[in-house]
Amino acid sequence: FEASLAAEATITLASSSTNSRHSEAEKGQRWSLKDFEIGKPLGRGKFGSVYLAREKRTKYIVAIKVLQKSQLLKAGVEHQLRREIEIQSHLRHANILRMYGYFYDNKRIYLILEYSPGGELYKKLTTRGRFSEGTTAQYISDLALALNYCHSKHVIHRDIKPENLLLGAYGEIKIADFGWSVHAPTSRRNTLCGTLDYLPPEMVEGREHDENVDVWCLGVLLYEFLTGAPPFEAEGHSATYRRISRVDLVFPRGVAEDAQDLIRKLLVKEPNKRMCLRNVPKHPWILRNTAS
Ligand code: AMP
Repeated sequence: FEASLAAEATITLASSSTNSRHSEAEKGQRWSLKDFEIGKPLGRGKFGSVYLAREKRTKYIVAIKVLQKSQLLKAGVEHQLRREIEIQSHLRHANILRMYGYFYDNKRIYLILEYSPGGELYKKLTTRGRFSEGTTAQYISDLALALNYCHSKHVIHRDIKPENLLLGAYGEIKIADFGWSVHAPTSRRNTLCGTLDYLPPEMVEGREHDENVDVWCLGVLLYEFLTGAPPFEAEGHSATYRRISRVDLVFPRGVAEDAQDLIRKLLVKEPNKRMCLRNVPKHPWILRNTAS
């Protein structure tokens, strides 16, 4: 399947100057529902459902996300989806969910995604309460490198939280949702409608922000994986806002000193004083808790 996509890309490029197939491919006309056998539903999201599917010719297994155009329009998120497709389809990393392509008909938009058999990380965190140091260290180290890869392409994710992470066949973590991602730097304030828990001070305060927002989010996630709850949780938006803005960080008993050290180096108020993502896998706590 991947090879055939690559071949098609080559053909598209080769013929782009002579006919209109190039723009056809860009518009998402290359695939259609007829190319897939649709299997069981994998889950439901805000704008539609996700199904297990198999590409008929290659028998390649994928997940197909079906989005209702009417719902996307009603919520006014067409631009966001366009950006999500543009960004996610160009990223290639073992810990980032692949988007192979998309197509549409009158009523729906279909995203062809890598199938993630391990399901939602959020569910696993909910059933287990929290993760062991070993599991957490592997997740955080992998996420740091995946986010660093995004940043090398000038993409900031801005919405790293358990709900947006899936697990692969080997239990490896996959960043799955690029709905809020943007090209850096930016001052957009449009993320302030959901939970504040994962937002850094510069975003809750409405200041300009850059790649370093993802470093903060990684710190929030590390804290939540180890303790079972995000660090700045509070009753209501304004209380959460205050705790984030003051970096009011309190550790429950049982969080190791070196784990606390890493969290404190990620959750720094000043964006450019936060730890560099490339150094996360080399931190003593990560080294102590991972095999390699
Ligand atoms: P979403 O619309 O992205 O929130 O997806 C709805 C649900 O479908 C998720 O919570 C997952 O349980 C499931 N799901 C989404 N994408 C995939 C995928 N690529 N592989 C497996 N399950 C998925």
